[in-house]
Amino acid sequence: MQADIEEILVSAEAIKNRVRELGAAISRDYEGKNLLVVGILKGAIIFLADLVREIKIPLILDFMAVSSYGSSTRTSGAVRILKDLECPVEDKHLLIVEDIVDTGLTLKYLVDNLKARHPLSLKTCTILDKPSRRLVEVQLDYCGFTIPDYFVVGYGLDYAQQYRHLPDICVLKRDIYTNGQ
Ligand code: 5GP
Repeated sequence: MQADIEEILVSAEAIKNRVRELGAAISRDYEGKNLLVVGILKGAIIFLADLVREIKIPLILDFMAVSSYGSSTRTSGAVRILKDLECPVEDKHLLIVEDIVDTGLTLKYLVDNLKARHPLSLKTCTILDKPSRRLVEVQLDYCGFTIPDYFVVGYGLDYAQQYRHLPDICVLKRDIYTNGQ
């Protein structure tokens, strides 16, 4: 496992500190509001689990799963809903929690789709932002770290469903994902 990693980009310690700050900001901003946190499966689950434990106000959790068509390291922009929300949203303030925003196509799709259901408000939260590859504009209301154009794994992020359990955010060795494609 360690042999597949080029470098640690964001350490577990740095993640922990930043997630605490994000949780504090969200707790302040949503005080007294009916908050629905929408986790995007599967990549956001580790971040989501840490983040909600740093949010000190009442909230409910729901999940969506989407698949982006394209190769294993690049999105095509076409998004399909694999699992939809179970809760109604009209009486709630929605916060979408994502793992990483790269081209922005996935998050833009989710924002447009959820806005059309008329929640009281809609904001976005991501642990990672890779702005250098953005194709569409999308507002990030809460962001953990801005990173360069590396393919990263760990802290929920996968390559071929592997590496999600690594506690740090790591740069994967290029030959791991260029071999066999
Ligand atoms: P976007 O639609 O913004 O291009 O891509 C969003 C999705 O692409 C993320 O939710 C994630 O699944 C995947 N993705 C983009 N960049 C990376 C990366 O560096 N590492 C991993 N593991 N997935 C990525």
